Amino acid sequence: PKFVYDFTEGNKDLKDLLGGKGANLAEMTNLGLPVPPGFTITTEACKTYLDSGEEPAALRDEVSAHLDALEAKMGKKLGQADDPLLVSVRSGAKFSMPGMMDTVLNIGLSDKSLQGLAKQAGDDRFAWDSYRRLIQMFGKTVLGVDGDLFEEALEAAKTAKKVAVDTELEAADLKKLVTKFKKIVKTEAGRDFPQDPREQMDLAIKAVFESWNGERAKLYRRQERIPHDLGTAVNVCSMVFGNLGPDSGTGVAFTRDPASGHQGVYGDYLQNAQGEDVVAGIRNTVALAELEQIDKKSYDQLMQIMETLENHYLDLCDIEFTIERGQLWMLQTRVGKRTAGAAFRIATQLVDQGLIDEAEALQRVNGAQLAQLMFPRFDEEAKVEQVGRGIAASPGAAVGKAVFDSYTAVKWSRSGEKVILIRRETNPDDLDGMIAAEGILTSRGGKTSHAAVVARGMGKTCVCGAEELEVDTKRRRMTVPGGQVVEEGDVVSIDGSSGKVYLGEVPVVPSPVVEYFEGRMHAGAEDADELVEAVHRIMAFADRKRRLRVRANADNAEDALRARRFGAQGIGLCRTEHMFLGDRRELVERLILADTEAEREESLKELLPLQKQDFVQLFESMDGLPVTVRLLDPPLHEFLPDITELSVRVALAESRQEPHENELRLLQAVHRLHEQNPMLGLRGVRLGLVIPGLFTMQVRAIAEAAAERKAAKGDPRAEIMIPLVGTVQELEIVREEADQVIAEVEAATGAKLKLSIGTMIELPRAALTAGQIAEAAEFFSFGTNDLTQTVWGFSRDDVEASFFTAYLEKGIFGVSPFETIDKDGVGSLVAAAAKAGRATRPDLKLGVCGEHGGDPESVHFFHEVGLDYVSCSPFRIPVARLEAGRAAS
Ligand code: ADP
Ligand code: MG
Ligand code: MG
Repeated sequence: PKFVYDFTEGNKDLKDLLGGKGANLAEMTNLGLPVPPGFTITTEACKTYLDSGEEPAALRDEVSAHLDALEAKMGKKLGQADDPLLVSVRSGAKFSMPGMMDTVLNIGLSDKSLQGLAKQAGDDRFAWDSYRRLIQMFGKTVLGVDGDLFEEALEAAKTAKKVAVDTELEAADLKKLVTKFKKIVKTEAGRDFPQDPREQMDLAIKAVFESWNGERAKLYRRQERIPHDLGTAVNVCSMVFGNLGPDSGTGVAFTRDPASGHQGVYGDYLQNAQGEDVVAGIRNTVALAELEQIDKKSYDQLMQIMETLENHYLDLCDIEFTIERGQLWMLQTRVGKRTAGAAFRIATQLVDQGLIDEAEALQRVNGAQLAQLMFPRFDEEAKVEQVGRGIAASPGAAVGKAVFDSYTAVKWSRSGEKVILIRRETNPDDLDGMIAAEGILTSRGGKTSHAAVVARGMGKTCVCGAEELEVDTKRRRMTVPGGQVVEEGDVVSIDGSSGKVYLGEVPVVPSPVVEYFEGRMHAGAEDADELVEAVHRIMAFADRKRRLRVRANADNAEDALRARRFGAQGIGLCRTEHMFLGDRRELVERLILADTEAEREESLKELLPLQKQDFVQLFESMDGLPVTVRLLDPPLHEFLPDITELSVRVALAESRQEPHENELRLLQAVHRLHEQNPMLGLRGVRLGLVIPGLFTMQVRAIAEAAAERKAAKGDPRAEIMIPLVGTVQELEIVREEADQVIAEVEAATGAKLKLSIGTMIELPRAALTAGQIAEAAEFFSFGTNDLTQTVWGFSRDDVEASFFTAYLEKGIFGVSPFETIDKDGVGSLVAAAAKAGRATRPDLKLGVCGEHGGDPESVHFFHEVGLDYVSCSPFRIPVARLEAGRAAS
């Protein structure tokens, strides 16, 4: 293969091969923009080097050929004594990995060529400044010398000279500094700073290759889920100099504001500076707008180029540039990162400018960004005392009293306190505390640490790996930088979207986007904010494009109404189990304990009107839209008292010789119903088949409720869903009974109810026999939570806290299969079952309920396999709508 590409040979679509930086340098070169000439060594070369420990045989020759061509173009040779060509050696992977790998500038300078450079530039100071920078960068990144040693020496030189900034050091000072730097290299690296320019270049290239496997780089990739086998490209770029005096400088710019999306002039500029100086904060930069006064010609040209770039990339770009004695050079560009809010605004702005269409606008935003915009956040106006920053592991804004152990978290939260659980790191023993806490803060661990994984799973705010916080769990306190101590009970605030940690209570404001979805803020209104306006329009694009319908998981009128405001097109999953709790528990207990048919019927009769009332309200709140009611699913013992508690009660009563006949009966029932593995036990349709009258009571309640709504001129559209079916026979029996009940209700009320009956597909056997099951089902709803559990053989309630962290760290999966559908396994069963079901019954309605229904990546999958709808919790509905729209465009 070809290992080296001239900037004129590449283009922006070759990021896999040339890395992001290389591909875009090539693109700019071909756009005719002023890019210093150079070439890119491919990621393939890097991979070969890393795999074999040696550079590919052909690489050296190819580099030589490209270097020759570059020297011919520039009319000087690398490191040439009287007039040296200097180059930078720059890393650049497919995905930008900020600060992970380094760049070496001024390669080609040596004791000899230094003189030539000084003479050519007519500036000694500049030459010595460039040389000391080379030794410093080379020493640090290539030879592995501690960078602080150079910084300290530089500081010492400034102190000796009594000056504040590096530009005040003169040639003689810098010359001394070079000697000092060389000494540092010699002592620390055990070798002299190489004088041969080609050796400098080759060593730098190798160092860039190796930086791919540096510890920080590996950690960053794991956290960002960037594959480890991509490798980095290396860019060799002829130097241009921003440190040639006041008519030179270097800067960074955005083609529009990455925080608001507003068009305008955003960036920073620093005169007489090189490379990283502008972001390193060594001197005060000026706003880019001031460049107009400093160098009008370059400024105008830069504005022109920024426009060219936006029109070409059709997006916000960020830029690095350098001005060398009045000549502008472009050193980097890429489609720039932006905040979630800006992503929405920019997408609509670009539509208004006619640069992109609606379908493309949908690709410029995503559900994760929308979800981020929906979290409540800390009031930006508030006075805050930030004391640390960790990894933004799970979004949200949480405020509470600091507690340092799980036990206290639970105890305090039971007494109504809001707490933040602070730990060095968490482990499965902390689970109760994590559930009790408003948020979780740890000082160790990354995005795949236990705290992060579990918190995300629970939707709980979490900041992890805030390393500068010293957590002392024994003494129940935390020390923050500066020495302040946070004791147990002190209030802290954590921002899971930014990773920031504050002392005291930071006021929380609701998200304007949620206010909008709730109907409390209107797009188009005078005071509506720009963000809301943009979200409103993007949602309209998505709704126009999408094929998938979006329903809600909701089981009461309040949730249903909120879901409707958020855009739900029905209820995909109404769980009836909560309707059996609370004051109704006693009735359920009686039902379970009934010895005779009469007793059982008695309790069912009492439950019926209560159930019916639930459904009347639900159908009313979802009038005109489908409501899928799932018949009772969980194991019965969940409705009975805890076995130990009850045993104690019985024993106590016994010893006091008090009457305890009822308790004893209850205890016997609990024993009878006790299962080792309740999730695989007597639940779902099995329950319906074993407890006579239970399902028919529920069906009757649904039918009567629908009839009542009809009588009230409503439009109820109930669908009856049977859970945990494994074989069509189960469904047939339930169905037969249900049909009979419905017929009875229709006869009694004279209403035509048109209730449909379908099933969950949540067991592998059901998926495998979907063709048969479809004979008796008018719809399927894939219960992907249980299906994931049963296909993998993972207990959902246990694994996230136990071994998932290890699995994520080992890269067995990049994300929990309960969060994003496992396409290859669970997903392929869904696809096959959908197909088999439709083969039997072409008009079979297909949906999915469960956590995956609101997960962006999963939504795309469900679109692809042709489901009709997804159902998710009310809060996720906008995300599902947006992603369904993106999937279809
Ligand atoms: P990063 O990926 O960290 O931004 P870069 O490779 O872009 O690293 O380079 C670091 C700094 O050096 C940037 O400010 C860049 O503009 C500057 N730089 C890189 N190559 C050259 C060059 N050939 N001439 C002048 N400045 C350069
Ligand atoms: Mg850069
Ligand atoms: Mg289930």
